[in-house]
Amino acid sequence: MGKKIIIAGGGHGGIGCGALLAQKGFDVTVYEKNSRNEMGYDWTDIFDKKGFAAIGMDMPDDGLWRLKYDMTFFGPGMTTKLRQDTPVDQLEIQMERRALYDCIIAYAEKCGVKFEYSNAVEAPVMLGNRVVGIKTEKGEYYADLVIDACGMNSPLRRKLPEHLGIQNEAQAFESFYVWRAFFEKGDFDGKIEDKFKLFLLPKGELGISWIDDEEKYTDVLIGRFEPLTEQRVEKLIDDMRKDYPSIGKKILRGGSFAQIPVRQPLGVLVADGYAAIGDSAFMTVPIIGSGIANSMKAAKILAETIIADETESFSAAVLWKYQKDFFSKTGNGLAPLAPVKLLLTRLEPIELDYIFERGILNADDMTISADSTSLASMVKDMLDPEPLKAKIKGLAASPVVLKKIMRMIKDIAAVTVVTTVMPQKYDIKRVYAWSEMYNKCFKR
Ligand SMILES: Cc1cc2nc3c(=O)[nH]c(=O)nc-3n(C[C@H](O)[C@H](O)[C@H](O)COP(=O)(O)OP(=O)(O)OC[C@H]3O[C@@H](n4cnc5c(N)ncnc54)[C@H](O)[C@@H]3O)c2cc1C
Repeated sequence: MGKKIIIAGGGHGGIGCGALLAQKGFDVTVYEKNSRNEMGYDWTDIFDKKGFAAIGMDMPDDGLWRLKYDMTFFGPGMTTKLRQDTPVDQLEIQMERRALYDCIIAYAEKCGVKFEYSNAVEAPVMLGNRVVGIKTEKGEYYADLVIDACGMNSPLRRKLPEHLGIQNEAQAFESFYVWRAFFEKGDFDGKIEDKFKLFLLPKGELGISWIDDEEKYTDVLIGRFEPLTEQRVEKLIDDMRKDYPSIGKKILRGGSFAQIPVRQPLGVLVADGYAAIGDSAFMTVPIIGSGIANSMKAAKILAETIIADETESFSAAVLWKYQKDFFSKTGNGLAPLAPVKLLLTRLEPIELDYIFERGILNADDMTISADSTSLASMVKDMLDPEPLKAKIKGLAASPVVLKKIMRMIKDIAAVTVVTTVMPQKYDIKRVYAWSEMYNKCFKR
């Protein structure tokens, strides 16, 4: 019998990693709090299709996905709009979340992964500094390695001892509280110019909203840095409907609240017998919250590290390769975008309009994707001296905005430097010190 692996929570990256491990003879069980029918959300998602290849899956049937539409970004004053222009070979796909889970779970089961549903994980079981299992509502389970795929509020990550250097909690402005629903089409037969509209600081509020005008329904998302209430959502939707009558009255699907991490990846992903993946490790793109493909790509890196561990100790020292490879392939592109998100939280609405109007942020900058190559080149472009000089010149008339942008650039540069000095090898004290330095880069 192969070594025992627990996947805590049925996150996409955890299941994908479990599939790759089960194929190699590991004994893998997923412990998920929901029943099988409750897995996922009643809406669609956009993600990089390369995620499937990363976990060794074929593309789902053609009828289950399509290429996504480009988004059009609007500033708070609606004075300018910036339309993405994503090259076709980099276009992400749109797919129903439930269909995605159906495909991934069927694949994992075929690879030999076992699923135990309706069993919520409550805490790690520790032996000294080592995670040796999980405590669930139905009892304790032990394993050689626990992979934490419980999502952003993971009770495992939250309850790990602080001295391991793994940040337990997300901080303020690191999580979006969202509400999303598909509405029936409203009485509107005019031409819709921009199918997928994304509003930054809408009506001056700290957050985003989107309206995606699909053929048979209108997809509406509201995201704020503070929890939303039913009454607040109702009022916001009524206001949106006045400007966009294509939002009908009746909710067809969704209409529920959720949370999305919009922050830098967790500084330390591993401990002895423990690895975090997906939203548990905050692997989403900080500005837009896409995390599905990143978690599937991380699954491949984690599985390769585990399979290569000839000692079968699954110690933090061995798992450190996963940490290093994840950051070099994806994390180093994600982390510098957290200061860009923080800039949005510092700007007055009128200042963001000014930035759009002057072309300081242009359509190319907004062609943000979850593709790690484009993320890395985006960060490189942001620090490129020539375009940077031109942008700074364009801000000469507004020293306040200039100061805020300079702070963001300084923070991006700091993150870029700190990630390059990540310890080469795992040493608990050095890792703790490094993680403190990393976390400091993102103070608001
Ligand atoms: C409204 C919304 C829209 C989004 N849109 C996109 C998008 O378009 N594209 C994209 O790439 N990403 C999107 N995301 C983000 C995406 O959902 C995550 O980044 C992605 O799913 C990776 O997270 P995960 O699978 O690790 O965690 P999750 O999706 O949070 O999954 C965690 C799993 O663990 C289970 N779980 C939680 N707690 C426990 C527990 N205590 N015990 C046992 N099981 C537990 C949960 O039930 C769930 O099955 C969106 C998120 C939201 C909320």
